[in-house]
Amino acid sequence: MCGIVGIMGKTPVAQALYDGLTVLQHRGQDAAGIITINDGVFHLRKANGLVRDVFQERHMQRLMGNFGIGHVRYPTAGTSSSAEAQPFYVNSPFGIAFAHNGNLTNADELKRDVFKAARRHINTTSDSELLLNILADELHKSPGMTLTAQDVFRAVSEVHRTVKGAYACVAAIIGNGMLAFRDPFGIRPLSLGKRTTEWGDEYMVASESVALDAVGFTFVRDVAPGEAIYISEEGKLHSKQCAESPLNAPCIFEFVYFARPDSCIDNISVYASRVNMGKKLGEKIAREWAELDIDVVIPIPETSCDIALEIAQVLGKPYRQGFVKNRYIGRTFIMPGQTLRRKSVRRKLNAIPAEFKGKNVLLVDDSIVRGTTSEQIIEMAREAGAAKVYFASAAPEIRFPNVYGIDMPSANELISHGREVDEICELIKADGLIFQDLKDLVAAVRKENPLISRFETSVFDGHYITGDVSQDYLEYLNAQRNDSSKAQRNVPEVANLEIHNMGGDN
Ligand code: AMP
Repeated sequence: MCGIVGIMGKTPVAQALYDGLTVLQHRGQDAAGIITINDGVFHLRKANGLVRDVFQERHMQRLMGNFGIGHVRYPTAGTSSSAEAQPFYVNSPFGIAFAHNGNLTNADELKRDVFKAARRHINTTSDSELLLNILADELHKSPGMTLTAQDVFRAVSEVHRTVKGAYACVAAIIGNGMLAFRDPFGIRPLSLGKRTTEWGDEYMVASESVALDAVGFTFVRDVAPGEAIYISEEGKLHSKQCAESPLNAPCIFEFVYFARPDSCIDNISVYASRVNMGKKLGEKIAREWAELDIDVVIPIPETSCDIALEIAQVLGKPYRQGFVKNRYIGRTFIMPGQTLRRKSVRRKLNAIPAEFKGKNVLLVDDSIVRGTTSEQIIEMAREAGAAKVYFASAAPEIRFPNVYGIDMPSANELISHGREVDEICELIKADGLIFQDLKDLVAAVRKENPLISRFETSVFDGHYITGDVSQDYLEYLNAQRNDSSKAQRNVPEVANLEIHNMGGDN
């Protein structure tokens, strides 16, 4: 997963881009980058590491200009080499910088096509570099020496026609303007904000509305699925629906786990949707597990806190913060794999024995992916003296890989893949395991915006909304994502770890 920001301003943008990226840090901790434009020249700083480590004062001073874009990265398809940090840049036509959140599902085919048709070389395994080159090739077909909004919209329409998968993008086109667009299903989020200054209106786009709040832009609206927004360097905003048959089907996992609770995506408060998830799950437990002798409800911090509080209220049981999270986990020098994951759970969380001793506890998490966290946490709860340990997941069983930009393991590494609830319960050694039903999860999120008729729910039901995901592609992904292939590609385990700045000092 990644986070993107872009500002077409009237005043210097580097600090606001930096601040926007820091509140999107949860979307990617692997690499960060900002590119600005000043007097017809790009200024770029990008490297592996957290935002606070990548940008030193000397870098910030060089990021001059009133127009720029930024990115935080968490690799899903490519590697974590600093060469794949974004924004990417091509010098023709005009000079374009580009940042992308998502994952393309027909990248191999596109790579062949763009080489054949335009002799364009893609130098990394990143599908964002590929997407930039496809966009650049389409913009190159425009006739004039500067782009019109219509030129830009025609290019985005072509991108929609050929590119499959999930993409929320922002591009800075030198001498022209800022372009932002979202795939025809709106799988990944993108919001638009505005700020009025004495020099005129400034516009900002960001993966989540929280980034607009953080830098003092007012939320205007979400970029619609398939829509492109183009803001010329003079500050005039143009927008157009560029997809033939757009459908608003946002990724439901953004609401379950990924997005910050203080963000709104597609007019849905992430926080409110999580409270609703808790209510639905609490009602299911009350209805179907009435015999459970629960003494206390304990969240696994932090995403599930809002969910667990609501469950406790529905069940009329006390809510207690029985685990303490270490926010300052240092770097780990071991490569990925189950052993590291097990250790990292214990490095991250510690139990408060008084909340467990002799009690029957209901632990609540937002989701169970590999099952490592739940197994470890249940063991910790027992070590802390719990009599019985029940476990509830606010998301249904994750049975299928994500192909739209969320970093998830291969199918075989998902604990729920091909298993029923009883088997999963036995594996994580719980005394009872309750998953949210998919229809309840959808209802919980949709309650906040009934206009959304579909959500992208493939990790739960195997139905991939773009309709083009073949068995071959899933097998290819499987080979890319399993632990042994990650180790070979030297991909560090970044989910819970901080990676310090290893990039070049450019
Ligand atoms: P697992 O041990 O794989 O079952 O991890 C489940 C935990 O990881 C849950 O507590 C989630 O909060 C969290 N989680 C869910 N999806 C992801 C993801 N894509 N990347 C990192 N952590 C995740």
